[in-house]
Amino acid sequence: MEVTLLGTGSPLPDPRRAGPSTLVRSAGCTLLVDCGRGVLMRLAAAGLLPPMLSAVLVTHLHSDHLTDLNDVITTSWVMRNEPESLPVFGPPGTADVVDATLAALAPDIGYRLAHHDDLTWRPTVDVTEVAPDVRFNVGSAAVRVAATDHRPVEPTVAYRVEDDGRSVVLGGDGVPCSGLDELCAGADAYVQTVIRDDLVRLVPNPRFQDIVDYHSTVEDAARTATRAGVGTLVLTHYVPPMAPDQADDWRARAAAHFAGDIVLGDDLTTIEL
Ligand SMILES: [Zn+2]
Ligand SMILES: [Zn+2]
Repeated sequence: MEVTLLGTGSPLPDPRRAGPSTLVRSAGCTLLVDCGRGVLMRLAAAGLLPPMLSAVLVTHLHSDHLTDLNDVITTSWVMRNEPESLPVFGPPGTADVVDATLAALAPDIGYRLAHHDDLTWRPTVDVTEVAPDVRFNVGSAAVRVAATDHRPVEPTVAYRVEDDGRSVVLGGDGVPCSGLDELCAGADAYVQTVIRDDLVRLVPNPRFQDIVDYHSTVEDAARTATRAGVGTLVLTHYVPPMAPDQADDWRARAAAHFAGDIVLGDDLTTIEL
């Protein structure tokens, strides 16, 4: 199994980091988890095009995790030679967002159907809204869902993907909670979006300060990893954006609470499990 941080950014525009998105590849399954800003540029850099995706997993409906879903839908559609639905899994509300996205794409869909004689079908998306504790399979991968705590944003979920005898948890956004601990138990890797509360508190902007109470800090993620006994902690969604010379500092803050391997870095950082 291979995990690639396609986008390590956040809502803050960053010339070096795409929006939140992680790719999980196993022998018989390719999953895109969230689809933030610039996701298809990074997917192409990882050697993949949208029709090669087995499914899209959405952790929650915050725009930074979803803003390029329209691009995934459109490009999956126009790059195929035959009709095939794009499977999308997400929390309740996902179907409404997908319907609204397709509505927004209506002019484009009309133009392309009118222009391309061999394109005779509309894009279709198979949405499955998932509840905590649900399990499902995509290709050869088994996926388990848990509720996360990103309140007041609700509902939000994390996913555990198992295949090839390996496991990875995609934690999404949120503070530590028992559901996440249970989902992470014994996983080979745990990918968590994180903030640096010490740095955020230095910025005298009330709207920025608001983010502290509903995100895991680096230390929170490390403590979750230790409680759950995971092998590798993978940090992403760096707020504020992690400068190249700050990686050691971020890593040290995690290492103070977690003795396993710690991975962080630029977009396209990849780990083999
Ligand atoms: Zn986010
Ligand atoms: Zn969020």
